[in-house]
Amino acid sequence: MAIQTGNFSDLGVSYESGTNAALLTAIARSAELLSGKGWPDGVNDLLEALGRVTNVSRVWIFQTVSLTDTHITQNYTFEWAAAPKYKQIGMPMFSMSTNKIDRPEYRALIDSRKRGEWQKTIVHELESGWLRDTLEVQRIKSMLTIPVMVEGEWWGTLGFDDCERAYDWSDVEVALLKTAGYLLSNAVLRDRLNAKRKQFDIVKQITDSSPWAYDFRTGQVWCASDLIHSVPMPTDNFRLSLRSALKLVHPEDRAHLLETVRSYLSQKRDVFRCDVRLFTDCGDLRWVELMGNVRWSEDGTPKQFAGIAVDIRARKREEERLKQEATTDPLTGVMNRRMFERTLQRHIELSVDEGVPFALLLLDIDCFKGLNDKYGHSLGDQVLRNFTSICRRVLRADDCLARMGGDEFAVLLPGMSWDSAREVGERIRRNVLTTPYYFESTQVLMSTSVGVTVHEGGVTSPTRVLDNADIALYAAKMNGRNCLVTTADTNCRMKDGRGPAS
Ligand code: GH3
Ligand code: MG
Repeated sequence: MAIQTGNFSDLGVSYESGTNAALLTAIARSAELLSGKGWPDGVNDLLEALGRVTNVSRVWIFQTVSLTDTHITQNYTFEWAAAPKYKQIGMPMFSMSTNKIDRPEYRALIDSRKRGEWQKTIVHELESGWLRDTLEVQRIKSMLTIPVMVEGEWWGTLGFDDCERAYDWSDVEVALLKTAGYLLSNAVLRDRLNAKRKQFDIVKQITDSSPWAYDFRTGQVWCASDLIHSVPMPTDNFRLSLRSALKLVHPEDRAHLLETVRSYLSQKRDVFRCDVRLFTDCGDLRWVELMGNVRWSEDGTPKQFAGIAVDIRARKREEERLKQEATTDPLTGVMNRRMFERTLQRHIELSVDEGVPFALLLLDIDCFKGLNDKYGHSLGDQVLRNFTSICRRVLRADDCLARMGGDEFAVLLPGMSWDSAREVGERIRRNVLTTPYYFESTQVLMSTSVGVTVHEGGVTSPTRVLDNADIALYAAKMNGRNCLVTTADTNCRMKDGRGPAS
């Protein structure tokens, strides 16, 4: 015989048979309906299946909207009725009704439901009082109610009213119907999680962020896998040790991150923020801003540190661009005057603190105005770019080249003596002279004048050092151009008051 297969809806027990087996089958069908259609679409089918198999007059759901010590607000949200005469949904007394919890028997009933217990009653056996009156007004002869608990809280009530029979539910029937309550609570929970996921997806999309958390007790870091993985992973629940998590941070950012965390924890500020570079699994680096806060235990120790990592690659690119703009000359890409003066200041301090000398060359293209006039401004621009390329080829990685304005350039040579500075200046001068620039088969030749000074120590200012080099450059121009003059060659006094070095 071949293996048998089938749908739960085709199982051979009919609703009408009124046995536990029929009840169980109805619950299996309901489970299928609820997991297929979910909350709230599958609920009416569940109530119908339960109503038909139990032969009751009505199956209903009351949702607990709010509950305080003194009042309860409930909403009659779903109902299945065996016949139109049993219908109650839509009646004003049931929808969004708020009641005072003033009678002891009502409070006992609510407390029992909050504990997750079931309640059953045969109305004519009840002591006379408020509850009996209330049920009799609705012509109920017997009733079973099962609280639906969601995340440990009383979310609402699944009720069975029988207006024809005074029926005493068996333990097995109650247990099976409690299962229907669990199906409902799972569907509600799934619906809540779906809503949360939707909200999270929207926030994530807009802020381009991923959540993370560190548990101080276990020492483990949790994060969404997309923070680390470049391809989708089967789990959203990625755990790693603190050590492994720190390895994902760029080595240059680790000390800064730990220091920021330490100061955040000690000052107990509201929001933690720190920019770091993170490695992804394929080795790419990504700038993120870690934002978060700490949940503290009652004894004042930190419990959990959690937050989001926002992708800030675009912001960092923009910051880099602005920094670049502020420090470089847009035409040639070399340092601008402002940045060069800052660099010069740093080297003056180094020469004072550590006795490291430096040389400064000032270079000015000869008769550049004539080139502009003859070939046009745009050719002039290309010549300026060509000039910096020639300089770069001669200079070392540590040397600084800057455009000071127009056709004037400066070079700072760290640790250079007079002789070597003169040699570098001469090499640039010769290379400029012997490297023609070709413009539409026309050979454009140029030359440069060079002024050289060396600062061997002593407190001075960038302006003074520049003025000294300028004196030498002026002398080179006066000397007929295309030559190099040092402040040692000129017989003038330097601006810091010292005589030219010999
Ligand atoms: P000297 O030998 O005395 O240095 O003469 P020069 O013609 O080079 O000197 P001057 O300072 O008179 O000319 C510099 C010229 O550089 C004047 C200006 O039009 C030109 N210039 C300044 N900035 C730019 C630029 O960005 N592009 C171009 N193409 N020309 C520029
Ligand atoms: Mg010039």
